[in-house]
Amino acid sequence: MSQESKSQESNQPLQPRTRAIHHGIRRSQYGEMAEALFMTQGFSYDSAEQAEARFIKAGPDEFIYARYGNPTSRMFEDRIANLEGTEDAFATASGMAAVNGALMCFLKPGDHIVSSRALFGSCLYVLDVLARFGVEVSYVDGTELEQWRAAIRPGTKAVFFESVSNPTLEVVDIAGVAELAHAVGALVVVDNVFATPVYSRAVAQGADVVVYSATKHIDGSGRCLGGVICGTRQFVRQVAEPYLKHTGGAISPFNAWLMLGGLATMELRVRAQTESALRLATALKQEPKVARILYPGLADHPQHDLVQRQMGAGGTMVAVDLGSKEAAFSAMNRLRVFQISNNLGDAKSIVTHPATTTHQRLSEEVRSGLGITPGLLRLSIGLEDAGDLIADLRQSLS
Ligand SMILES: *Cc1c(COP(=O)(O)O)cnc(C)c1O
Repeated sequence: MSQESKSQESNQPLQPRTRAIHHGIRRSQYGEMAEALFMTQGFSYDSAEQAEARFIKAGPDEFIYARYGNPTSRMFEDRIANLEGTEDAFATASGMAAVNGALMCFLKPGDHIVSSRALFGSCLYVLDVLARFGVEVSYVDGTELEQWRAAIRPGTKAVFFESVSNPTLEVVDIAGVAELAHAVGALVVVDNVFATPVYSRAVAQGADVVVYSATKHIDGSGRCLGGVICGTRQFVRQVAEPYLKHTGGAISPFNAWLMLGGLATMELRVRAQTESALRLATALKQEPKVARILYPGLADHPQHDLVQRQMGAGGTMVAVDLGSKEAAFSAMNRLRVFQISNNLGDAKSIVTHPATTTHQRLSEEVRSGLGITPGLLRLSIGLEDAGDLIADLRQSLS
């Protein structure tokens, strides 16, 4: 924290790339350069009185139990909140712990929420759980502002959507939906994984709560799970934290430590991956076997203007439709650099067949309604040489 005050003397606001490396560091008495890993579940007290006082109200540098908070996890929370532009953040064990926690922590039976239909399979599962506990969930086509307008009503408690949907890369107008939601006092909760913290302007555009799977671009090397809920201090500490600390959703300090290292290189990685994704999408347009290509950064993406306004770039994910499951499987099996897996945002490029893996749980009918066709492949563009990736895809289609 002394680092922070030193750098603020110049009064010049620091850029995200600088803050991603320095913000929120808490040094021990040894003055270590790297963020310290406090691999401890608990903390000892000097006296019974001190323990009592800390349970009444813990100060900013006082910890009780790693399920509630830990200095390494707190460094990660402070840094990501700073980058996202929110007052605070709570780090979670996975992206799904963040999605589940961000919604469960304030909803109750009888509440109404509106969600986009195009969601990651596990996000849909969480909404089914909410419905099981008496929360009414209305689904809309997230790209249609008119559907949001029709579904949001006085008393609606929250709206939820992936700003860029997994896997069909549909983009939801954050500012447009937020205006409708705020008119009735509903909280805007955004799963911003595909936009990445690098291209996120979600808070400036009206999001109240932003959740990330840190497993993806934040770690960026596919090493561990993590997630984070970003929001106002009131929401994070008074609403989300009590739910998460008592239900066990906290991140491991070790994973938070890996995520801190990930944040330091995130912007460089994501920008390079996005550059390659655009090159690759452009190259694939020339391939006769590609029936359809979806990339938010291409000028012919149906929401290209919105993408430019909302994110300024197309991100690291590309989807291609090869027309049939057979063609998709055949290409996957021929790829040599791309790995068949289901993570994304990794340094390694990954190919996924959503219909038979991440979105297998859905019925055929729901899948086709979401545009998850049998020939659809989701590509997560990694950090390899873009020319190698393009050549790999070309030979897989030949
Ligand atoms: C991966 C993902 C999640 C879940 O994150 P985990 O870290 O795997 O739990 C949630 N939302 C989206 C959009 C994702 O891509």
